[in-house]
Amino acid sequence: MLFTDLGLAPAILTAVAEQGYQTPTPIQQKTIPVILQGKDVLGGAQTGTGKTAAFTLPILQMLQEEAKPLQPKQVRCLILTPTRELAVQVADNVAAYARHLPLRTAVFYGGVSVNPQLEQAALGLDILIATPGRLLDHLHQQSISLYQLEVLVLDEADRMLDMGFIHDIKRIMAKLPEKRQTLFFSATFSNDIKALADTLLNEPVLVEVAKANSASAQVEQLAFRVDSQRKRELISEVIGKRNWQQVLIFSRTKFGADRLSKQLQQDGIDAQAIHGDKSQGHRTKVLQDFKAGKLRVLVATDVAARGLDIEDLPIVVNFDLPHQAEDYVHRIGRTGRAGKFGLAVTLVTPDDLWMLKEIELLIKQVITQQVLPGYEHDPRFNHSSKGTHKSAEEQEASQVKKKLSNNRKLSIEKSKLRAIALGKKRAQ
Ligand code: AMP
Repeated sequence: MLFTDLGLAPAILTAVAEQGYQTPTPIQQKTIPVILQGKDVLGGAQTGTGKTAAFTLPILQMLQEEAKPLQPKQVRCLILTPTRELAVQVADNVAAYARHLPLRTAVFYGGVSVNPQLEQAALGLDILIATPGRLLDHLHQQSISLYQLEVLVLDEADRMLDMGFIHDIKRIMAKLPEKRQTLFFSATFSNDIKALADTLLNEPVLVEVAKANSASAQVEQLAFRVDSQRKRELISEVIGKRNWQQVLIFSRTKFGADRLSKQLQQDGIDAQAIHGDKSQGHRTKVLQDFKAGKLRVLVATDVAARGLDIEDLPIVVNFDLPHQAEDYVHRIGRTGRAGKFGLAVTLVTPDDLWMLKEIELLIKQVITQQVLPGYEHDPRFNHSSKGTHKSAEEQEASQVKKKLSNNRKLSIEKSKLRAIALGKKRAQ
C-alpha cells in the first residue's frame, strides 16, 4: 500500500514525502481509513510504530476538508499526552505534516509562562496538543473552550493512568461534547485502561499492530548478570570498550540518574541526566544535544524518558530494572523503531531476578543472560538491603515505591507470586 492509496490531500502527501516516508507503516495502513470514516478507534500500538502519523494525517485531512473560520478560544481537535516531552514531540510531528495547510496548531504544557498560550488560545485552534494539568488550568480560566471539539486523541493512555491523571482526565471529559470522534491509544491494556476506554469510546474499531505487551522483534535483548555494587563499573567499561554512541540509560530514581551521569563523566564519558526535578530548559537542551549526537549518554527516569522520539536510537540500557514489567516494554521501545534494529541491555543483580522473570512472562520471550569476564558473582557482596544502612539512593527508591498506586503495588505482588509459581514449576 502507498500513501497515495489512502485518499489524503496533495498538501499532506507532499509533507509526508518531505519527511522521507516511503510507505505507510502497518498501524497507518489500518488506522487511517478507519479514522477517515469518522469512527472511534481503540489503538494498541507501541511507540515507534508510526502511530503519531497514523492519527495525525487523517485528522489533518478531515480538518482541512471542512476548513472553517475559527472562533476565539475554539479548539477543533485536542491531543492529550501524559508528558511535556511527548507533547512537544507530537506537536513537532503535527507541524511537519501540516506545514502546507492553513491550520492553526499549538502545544500547551506546564512549567512555562501561560501568556503566549493565552494569545494562541484567544485566536482559536484547529489542533491543540496538551498535557492534562495545563489544559485544566486553561479550562478553569476559560481561556479555551472545548464545547465545539470535533476530535479527541488520548495518546499513551496507559502512561496517563500510571502518572495519576485519571481525575484530570475525567474533569476534562466533563467539558467535551457528547458528539465527537475519539481516538484512544495505549501500548498496554490493563483493566483500568479498558474501563477508561469503555467510558470514552463509542463502538470503537480495534486496531492493533504489535500484540500489546510484546517487545519489538527488531530489538536484540540481552541481560548482563552483575553484582549491584559493580553495575556502574560494568556499564562504563562496556560503553567505552564497545564504543557505544548515543546510549539511553534508564535509572529507577532521580538521585540514581544524577549520580550515574556524574560517575560516567568522571570516567570520561559525556553523560547528562534528565528527570522531573530538572528545569524544562535543561531537559530541552539535553534532549536536543542527545538527538543531534552531541551527547553520548542520556540517563533518564521512566517519566522523563516517556515519549522521547530519537530517530535511529541504537542502544537502550536498563541500569536498574523498572518498577513494573510493562515499563520494560516502553523502555526498549525507544530503540528498534520504524524498522531499524536496536539493542536493549539490562543489568541484572541477583535481587532483580524475580523481576526479570516477570518481564519474560509478560513479553513471552526468554532474555539471554550473560556474565561478562571479570564480573562473576562475588559471594562477599551482600545483596539484600535488609538490616543494613540505607544509602540516599535506596531511601529515594523506597520513597518512590511508597508512592506507587495501589494498583501497581498489587501488580507487583501478583508478579512476585507468579514468579514464585514459575520458579516452583521449573524446579519440579
Ligand atoms: P511514532 O510511533 O509516532 O513515535 O513514530 C516513530 C518514528 O517513525 C518517528 O521518527 C516517525 O518520524 C517515523 N515514521 C512514522 N511514519 C513513518 C513511515 N511511514 N515511514 C518511515 N518512518 C515513519
